Amino acid sequence: MSVINYAKDIQVKGIYDVIVVGSGSAGSTAAIAAARLGAKTLLIERLPFLGGISTAVLDTFYGYYTPGKQSTKIVGGIADDVVRELCVYNACFERPNTFGAGTGITYHPEYLKVVWETLAVKAGCHILLNAWVQDVVKEDGRITGLIVATKLGLTYYRAKQFVDATGDADLIYLAGFDYEQAGEQEPAQTLTTTFKMVNVDTLKRKAVSKEEFHQLMKQAAESNDYDLPRKEGSDHITPVDGMTATIMTRLKSYQKIDSKTINATDPEFLSKAEIKGRLQALEYIRFLRDCVPGYENASLSTFGMQIGVRETRRIYGEYRLTEEDVLSARQFDDQIGLCGAPMEDHHDGEDTKWKYLPEGKTVGIPYRTLIPKNTKNVLVAGRCFSASHVAHSSVRSMAQCMVMGQAAGIASALCAEKNISPVQLDAGLLKERLLQQGGIINEP
Ligand SMILES: Cc1cc2nc3c(=O)[nH]c(=O)nc-3n(C[C@H](O)[C@H](O)[C@H](O)COP(=O)(O)OP(=O)(O)OC[C@H]3O[C@@H](n4cnc5c(N)ncnc54)[C@H](O)[C@@H]3O)c2cc1C
Repeated sequence: MSVINYAKDIQVKGIYDVIVVGSGSAGSTAAIAAARLGAKTLLIERLPFLGGISTAVLDTFYGYYTPGKQSTKIVGGIADDVVRELCVYNACFERPNTFGAGTGITYHPEYLKVVWETLAVKAGCHILLNAWVQDVVKEDGRITGLIVATKLGLTYYRAKQFVDATGDADLIYLAGFDYEQAGEQEPAQTLTTTFKMVNVDTLKRKAVSKEEFHQLMKQAAESNDYDLPRKEGSDHITPVDGMTATIMTRLKSYQKIDSKTINATDPEFLSKAEIKGRLQALEYIRFLRDCVPGYENASLSTFGMQIGVRETRRIYGEYRLTEEDVLSARQFDDQIGLCGAPMEDHHDGEDTKWKYLPEGKTVGIPYRTLIPKNTKNVLVAGRCFSASHVAHSSVRSMAQCMVMGQAAGIASALCAEKNISPVQLDAGLLKERLLQQGGIINEP
């Protein structure tokens, strides 16, 4: 994949200590953390705003709290700064555990775009939007530069350390390092087109319980008047009066053709899914308006700006988190944070499979799950980290992506400063810096 030959002909636009690619919950946090440590940091994002899924698709952070009878806060650091800034705009509120994932923090995604930008700019990050990493330059097994597609044509940026926070592990793929293609070994989680409704009578809607709501969905599907593949979808209130947001639609996320597995990293597959997802959303809207009290006069406000993709590529790291680790609430010497979220598998069926950790417990997230095997100067953060399909279905919540991002940002800054590889970094020093930045590493 190396483009060293044609890279010679492209002028280098900038040289950094750390380049973070992808500005979702993981990447934005990574860039903020690295810049706060004084690293000269570039954050590259293909969309015209920061936040990835957090601003383009969703509106509720899960993972800050453990689910269960007692809700304990287990995430801090930059994740706290994000919520603090949202509160300045009165743009978020806590929503009690209604769907099983614990207390959520529901926010207004348009304000979150501004919050991510404000925190990143204040930290001193250089931000490059509308810029798509297309290729990597590799020399002696190290990534040394990135080729970025922009309106000016291809541009070239170099750095000492890289963070792959693309969700899809694009850097790892382009550099030819190892990864697991979701859907190849186990069924991958499905895709969801989110949508928002306005003019909802939320008081009337609130009088319908979760069980009754699912019953209405089931009845509608079984009547054959509505084509509703998922019968346990959810809706919830938002910071805007009379507006609800949904996670309701369900589309298959991969396909096997001969011995090859294709998923949402394939543009042809993704294009069809985007089109199908919006049509399916319209069918759910018809159901809501016809069958659910409170929705009689409601209208569609927006679709998510892209289809929600839960998993595509997951790296093989120095450690791979397993289902057993999660269910036994295992703690690790090199852990950089905690996760108490249940394993929530949006499989290719009618319901969603939930499996819980022991009451009030958490699993540690090892630093090694962010270090791709056989690499010298790249870390990953976010939903492409090193975990089995099932373990991933617990640790992929946005709060945990922020935890991983903060650790990867700090680690990259330290590695750039010390001229070492992430695998050589003392986990003790990383944890010390994480604690200084407000991180929570061990169970309370
Ligand atoms: C439908 C759905 C519902 C979910 N519900 C919840 C929920 O309610 N609460 C919760 O906490 N979690 C939820 N999750 C999980 C969670 O949202 C994700 O796991 C998390 O947001 C992933 O964050 P990330 O930073 O790893 O990736 P992303 O947010 O996907 O960020 C990746 C970023 O990289 C950019 N990028 C990708 N490739 C390139 C490239 N080559 N060049 C430049 N930029 C690039 C993308 O544009 C994007 O901004 C849900 C996920 C889905 C899909």
